[in-house]
Amino acid sequence: MGLRRLGVLGWPVAHSRSPAMQNAALAATGLDGEYAYERVAVTPEDFAATVAGLAAAGFAGVNVTIPHKEAALALATHASADARAIGAANTLTFGAQDGAIRADNTDAPGLLDALGEPVPRSAMILGAGGSARAAAHALRSTGAAVAVWNRSPERARRLAVDLGVAAVDGPVGADVLVNCTSVGLHDPAETFKSLPLTTDDLGRYACVVDLVYRDGGTELLRQAEQRGCRCVDGLEILVRQGARSFQIWTGRPAPLDVMRRAARSEHSHPQLPESPPGRRDGPAGA
Ligand code: NDP
Repeated sequence: MGLRRLGVLGWPVAHSRSPAMQNAALAATGLDGEYAYERVAVTPEDFAATVAGLAAAGFAGVNVTIPHKEAALALATHASADARAIGAANTLTFGAQDGAIRADNTDAPGLLDALGEPVPRSAMILGAGGSARAAAHALRSTGAAVAVWNRSPERARRLAVDLGVAAVDGPVGADVLVNCTSVGLHDPAETFKSLPLTTDDLGRYACVVDLVYRDGGTELLRQAEQRGCRCVDGLEILVRQGARSFQIWTGRPAPLDVMRRAARSEHSHPQLPESPPGRRDGPAGA
C-alpha cells in the first residue's frame, strides 16, 4: 500500500504548526513510511467538495481548523458524542472503502490533558466561539462549575444554554481562567484593554490557560506568570489535541515530547507552500 495521507484543512492554513508536529511524531514512531501529513488550504466554498474527495485522494484522516470546524461536523456520517455536544469537529477519519466520515473533537479532551492535575473545580472562560464551546464542554464534563464571558453577550448566553454552563457579565474568580478569545494574538498591548480584566485580577486564578500562541509568548501569560499562576500555553493545547488525533488515526500513543519540540521550534523554519488536495507530489509537510 502507498503512503497514506493525513493533513490539516484550513483557510488560511500557512501558519499551522500541525504538519511539523505530526510529521515529527510519525518519524519518531517509525510510521513515516506509512503516513505523511500536509497542509491543505481550502476555502469555505470548496470545503464540502474537497472533503468528499479526500478518501479517494488517499487521505486516512485530517485535522480541520478555522473556519471549517462546524462544517466538518455537518459532513460526517458518524460523530462522537463530544463533537455533537460541542457542535464542531477538528478531526475527521475516513473509512477505507465505504465513504464513511467519522468526526471527533480532540480540542476538548486535549484541554483537559494539558491542564492535568488537579482537575479544576471551577473555571472562568473568556470567549464564546468554537474553542470556547470545546473548553466549556470539556470542563463541564469533569463536574467543574463553568462561567463564560464574551464581548458579545448574546453569544455567551447561547453557549451557556447549549452546554449547561453560566453566562456572566464579567469574570468571576475560579481555579482556572481560560482565554478562548483571539485577543493578544496580533497586538499584545491590546490584551488588558480588550479583556475585562486587570493584571491584578489574575491573582484570582490558580491557573491561567491561553489558547492564543505567538512567538515570544502572550502578554496574558507573561502577567499571570509574574503573579505566580500556573500557566498553560496555546502550544501545549495544540500538542495535546494533535496527540489525540494522532492516536485516533494510527492507533498508537503519540510521542508528546517529540511533538512539543517540533511545535515549539516550527517558527524558526521557513513556511512551506500549501498543496492542493488532489496532488500526490505536493509537499508532505515539514
Ligand atoms: P472564534 O472566531 O470562533 O471566536 C473568537 C472569539 O474571540 C469570540 O468569542 C470573539 O468575541 C472574541 N474576540 C475577538 N476579538 C475580540 C476583541 N477584540 N475583544 C474581545 N473579544 C474578542 O475563534 P476560536 O474560538 O476558534 O479561536 C479563538 C482563538 O483561540 C484563536 O484566535 C486562536 O488564537 C486560538 N486557538 C488556539 C488553539 C490551540 O490549539 N492552541 C485551537 C483553537 C483556537 P465575539 O463573539 O464578541 O466576536
